[in-house]
Amino acid sequence: MVDISKRRFFTRKQIDTKQARLPWVKDLTTFTDRCTRCNKCVSVCETQIIKSGDGGYPAVDFSIDECTFCYKCAEICPEPIFDDRDSTPWNAKAEINAQCLAHKNIECRSCGDSCETMAITFKLRVGSVALPQLELEHCSGCGACVSVCPSSSISVSNV
Ligand code: SF4
Ligand code: SF4
Ligand code: SF4
Repeated sequence: MVDISKRRFFTRKQIDTKQARLPWVKDLTTFTDRCTRCNKCVSVCETQIIKSGDGGYPAVDFSIDECTFCYKCAEICPEPIFDDRDSTPWNAKAEINAQCLAHKNIECRSCGDSCETMAITFKLRVGSVALPQLELEHCSGCGACVSVCPSSSISVSNV
């Protein structure tokens, strides 16, 4: 017979707590104990970014679109997983890697254009194109900059 406590341990090990899973999740370490994988959050997400992820547990996929922080996933969830709407949704932040086109001296400002909170600004450089600069305190982790990046250089994860 399978020892349930062991099974939970292995299930938890599969969950990457660095991954931006769903906004307003109270505690990522107990998420797999509480989520029944009913997929109700998947069906209501207004930008359809919630997909069935590792182990069948829901997770956002910013390669599709952004999170608008509509709170619909939290509202529909029948389990005690989500925090109040007036709390901070998550501590997810964007990161831009060295594949960014600006490092190859190719002009691109797609991420900055898509960032509503203006967390991405561009630093002018003499003799080369401007480099994107992230101000993490202004980043909401919405993921809007991810799918618009032509070189797939941006990821969003919990810090
Ligand atoms: S808050 Fe809204 S847009 Fe964001 S993941 Fe939940 S349902 Fe989707
Ligand atoms: S609605 Fe809640 S219990 Fe159902 S899959 Fe989404 S997070 Fe899990
Ligand atoms: S995740 Fe959202 S707020 Fe953060 S830098 Fe990207 S677009 Fe801006």
